[in-house]
Amino acid sequence: MSRVINFSAGPAVIPLEVLEQAKSELLDFRSSGMSVMEMSHRSAIFLEILKEAESNLRLLLGISDDYHVLFLQGGATAQFSALPMNLAAAIPRAEYVNTGSWSSKAIKEASKFCDVNIAASGEEDGYKRIPDVAGWDIREETAFLHICSNETIGGVQFKTFPSLGIPLVADMSSDILSRTIEVDEFGAIYAGAQKNIGPAGLAIVIVRKDLCGAAKKETPSFLNYSVQAESDSMLNTPPTFTIYLAGLVFSWLLEKGGISVVEKENEQKADTLYRLIDEGDFYSCPVDPEFRSNMNVPFRLYTEELEKLFLERAEKNGMFNLKGHRSVGGMRASIYNAVPVSWVEELASLMNDFKNEYG
Ligand code: PMP
Repeated sequence: MSRVINFSAGPAVIPLEVLEQAKSELLDFRSSGMSVMEMSHRSAIFLEILKEAESNLRLLLGISDDYHVLFLQGGATAQFSALPMNLAAAIPRAEYVNTGSWSSKAIKEASKFCDVNIAASGEEDGYKRIPDVAGWDIREETAFLHICSNETIGGVQFKTFPSLGIPLVADMSSDILSRTIEVDEFGAIYAGAQKNIGPAGLAIVIVRKDLCGAAKKETPSFLNYSVQAESDSMLNTPPTFTIYLAGLVFSWLLEKGGISVVEKENEQKADTLYRLIDEGDFYSCPVDPEFRSNMNVPFRLYTEELEKLFLERAEKNGMFNLKGHRSVGGMRASIYNAVPVSWVEELASLMNDFKNEYG
């Protein structure tokens, strides 16, 4: 077996222990004589998998009974539309903060379903920082305030969350489960699975129960939070194998000691890379130090030629998927929970050697 060091932004690396367990159970899950892929989603054995995944996620994030936890399809992108349909019906207005590519996409979709006000935007600043909360322009009567807690492409991350007296909704696709949060501070949290949760094909929505129940009447049933909650996320056939794998990742996180343990590792990994980037001027990171992401580390070299050489050298050393997003270029190391500290140390060592050679 030759697995590579994988810095993919998503779908991203899954813990080896999880893949090994899935492999061992692939043909015959707990003596059922079937793979999880082959069993009815309504069978007692699958319902147990779903129930355990939900209760472990609740345990990891400290989610109270005031919140629904939904396992939905359509990725985080479907939630860009589902959110205003569900939460901005009675008051058809919402505030959005634009901090980069993903919040821009959320804004574009939400604008189809409600009156969106861009409360603040980092665009003029080149998305280098989160605009200062004191300057946000929030309307008085509004349904919710939307942020993207971590911009996967730009590498900008909220380090604290605003509390402005209206329900806060966060796209946490690329940093859910990477650090401790207080779920009670949010009206809703949503995330595509393919970074810190498991394989693609699943989105998790954590939404305060009292905000649901008054969706726009044209909301498709499969995007309707109350309908999905009533049917335990099983209005239609859910992505059963993906939910099973997500459940294995939740158990893996609990066995590691929970989120506070991975949070420390994540800080250590990010710190190793940013420190090296800031030493001298061979490497650079476009994001202000105060808002640098602990999950996605974008960095650049002097010239595109050097960047190409760097990527080639990385692959020769078994390190893959370091190319930045096509819209911004450069490099990006995505260092989600499943990326071990040792991989980041190997990358740092390669970066040092490369600097010594070409700097
Ligand atoms: N939000 C963020 C922050 C993302 O990183 C992504 C995917 N990279 C999305 C939304 C869209 O997710 P999906 O592809 O699951 O729809």
